[in-house]
Amino acid sequence: MPFSLIAYRCLERLEEWKPMFKFRDLSIRLKLIVLLGASAAIALFISAVMSVSVTFVTQRTESLRHLQQISDIASENLTAALAFSDSASAGRLLGALRANPHIQAAIIHDDQMKPFSDYIASDADTAAVRHYLQGLEQLAIRNRSQILDRSKALESIDFNYMFAITPIVFEGKVLGTLTIVSDTQELKGQLSYYLAMQLLISVLTLVIITFISMRLQPVFTEPIFHLIDAIREIAQTKNYSLSVSTTQNDEFKGLYAQFNDMISEIRERDVLLNRLATTDPLTGLPNRRQAMEVLQTMVTRACRKREWFGLVMFDVDFFKNVNDQYGHPVGDIVLKEVAAIMAHTAREYDLVARIGGEEFLVLCDNSDLETTHMIAERMRLEVEKAVIHTVDGNTLKVTVSAGVHAAVPQTEQADLPLKWVDEALYHAKESGRNRVSLGDRT
Ligand code: GH3
Ligand code: MG
Ligand code: MG
Repeated sequence: MPFSLIAYRCLERLEEWKPMFKFRDLSIRLKLIVLLGASAAIALFISAVMSVSVTFVTQRTESLRHLQQISDIASENLTAALAFSDSASAGRLLGALRANPHIQAAIIHDDQMKPFSDYIASDADTAAVRHYLQGLEQLAIRNRSQILDRSKALESIDFNYMFAITPIVFEGKVLGTLTIVSDTQELKGQLSYYLAMQLLISVLTLVIITFISMRLQPVFTEPIFHLIDAIREIAQTKNYSLSVSTTQNDEFKGLYAQFNDMISEIRERDVLLNRLATTDPLTGLPNRRQAMEVLQTMVTRACRKREWFGLVMFDVDFFKNVNDQYGHPVGDIVLKEVAAIMAHTAREYDLVARIGGEEFLVLCDNSDLETTHMIAERMRLEVEKAVIHTVDGNTLKVTVSAGVHAAVPQTEQADLPLKWVDEALYHAKESGRNRVSLGDRT
């Protein structure tokens, strides 16, 4: 669209010249409408200028040709009058020109360029016409030889008048010249009519184009706004499962597909980051951070609903010895094994987390003391029973100690049950290890 390009460049320039007009700051909708309107206006202006110029040239030639024809016929008729120096009949013949209302004046000069007879229309501006005729006389004198040898018709047109100077010839001899002056009303009328029609058509076309561009602009702008809305929603809600779709089969379709791909990649990374941030890499269990978050949620809910909440803290007994005896990698295998045992021994809705080196926390939602104690005991037994195989073919066994706390929380402070369960664990260690202790608080 070259016209759109021209219009865009013009608007950009306009912006530089006139800081008040900020085309860049207009909304996309308005930019499109202004761009289409401006393109159409420039195109219409250029086509109007071209067609009016062509019409002017054509009409001008046509008018002069017509005047020349009148002049030729009149000079033919005037031959006898001039040959016999009969100025009365020459005057009568010139008077007949009044039949054409546009002819303002006519004058006959003899072969010495002396005025022989003339005619001025009754409605003509006599002073102006006489002044014009004087000018033509000078012109005729300057171009006498040209007129007499008929090498070139002398005719021209200006804003108010047009003229034709024709030689009067009898039997090959030039007897004089006939100058006819006509007004340009007809030409002006035709041009005015043409200009008015051009203007009307241009205005109508502009109105139609503006209307069409207003109706069509959603095709361009809606997909953009839809995308902007989606981006805003994703930014606010962090909901990366959102996707956008369009029924359009153009570049927006590709853009939407790329946007959806990008969002799904962000979603995958978000899930991964979330997992890395909340999971212990060695055992795959939720880490301390995740455990503390869930603990706070559970304590708050239990406190508000007046429900029981149970907590168990485990610590592997003499784990340092395992490391010392078998090496750190074997210690890792033991930790993984203990974690797996705890995870599959817990109830489906309990949360088992690794909260430290060889320490684990079990969060038992809606669980009274008896149930929590039972869960802890079951886990302890399962670990005690397990035979752990190391990579070099050795086997070993470990035990765990556990502290248990269960209550209907009186406050939403999650650090209290944590403190009490830690005390209970300490108690279990103190009382000989490989056992579950309820501590003093429960
Ligand atoms: P207690 O029965 O009193 O709990 O004795 P303990 O030896 O288990 O306790 P201690 O706190 O002295 O030792 C814990 C050890 O756990 C020390 C540390 O090197 C080891 N540890 C911590 N994290 C890891 C780990 O990720 N992998 C391995 N292999 N060892 C770890
Ligand atoms: Mg420890
Ligand atoms: Mg330990």
